Amino acid sequence: MTDQNPSPVTYSVRENIAYVTLNRPEYSNAQNSAMTYAIDDALTRAVNDDEVKVIVLGGAGKHFCAGHDIGTPGRDVDQSFPRRAIIHWDHVGREGVDARFARESEVYLGMCRRWREIPKPMIAKVHGACIAGGLMLAWACDFVIASDDAFFSDPVVRMGIPGVEYFAHPWVMSPRVAKEFLFTGDRFDARRALEVGLVNQVVARVDLDDRVDGIAERIAKMPAFGLALTKKAVNQAEDLQGLRSGLDSVFGLHHMGHSHNAEVAGDSLSGMNARGMKS
Ligand code: ZN
Repeated sequence: MTDQNPSPVTYSVRENIAYVTLNRPEYSNAQNSAMTYAIDDALTRAVNDDEVKVIVLGGAGKHFCAGHDIGTPGRDVDQSFPRRAIIHWDHVGREGVDARFARESEVYLGMCRRWREIPKPMIAKVHGACIAGGLMLAWACDFVIASDDAFFSDPVVRMGIPGVEYFAHPWVMSPRVAKEFLFTGDRFDARRALEVGLVNQVVARVDLDDRVDGIAERIAKMPAFGLALTKKAVNQAEDLQGLRSGLDSVFGLHHMGHSHNAEVAGDSLSGMNARGMKS
């Protein structure tokens, strides 16, 4: 069964700014693979359009993104999509770790890395929920502007797994705060998120669009190649601080968690659905 909505992502350009908007509002923009590849299409289009200097990633409806799709009618975990982020075989038709590792390497870790390296500044415009897989989208962007109704959490430890596939937590915030965030699974509201460095700025919900547009317009006046070099410079510094190798090593622990669940509970998500993850 697939979504009735033909376009899980919308794309528009205005005054050198590309707006890439998650568009499954009826499911709080839960990210299925159709959406992942639509995001990738939109971002590729923005990279190749010389008119575009800055990219804004946002969400339609009440929430930015409630996470990876673990139960909507449009869940497409068993479908084939052409690999773009990594060179590996398709997960469809494979079994066990072979299948999970192939799929999550491509659509989660690989895609987020690919997007992080886009040579144009990317701003995450976050309102409402930014949960688990939603964090990965926000963290693949260069910085985050949030509205005062935004909230952030990674409840994946409830599945017995150490957080989402893109384990940037101890780089995005301090390791101590990352442990609190993960051990409790608690929601951090916008104020707390600002305090711990998870977001750059918080504004009233009604002012969010204007604030993001204003910042994007100022960035758009900078030389494009200078922005690309600067982005690469900061990303390289972050990688020298261990981000890249940290992501790889924790990705192994993540899959150990999935495998343990499959071994003892017969399900790699430990029987969890969206409802179970909330409590
Ligand atoms: Zn996973």
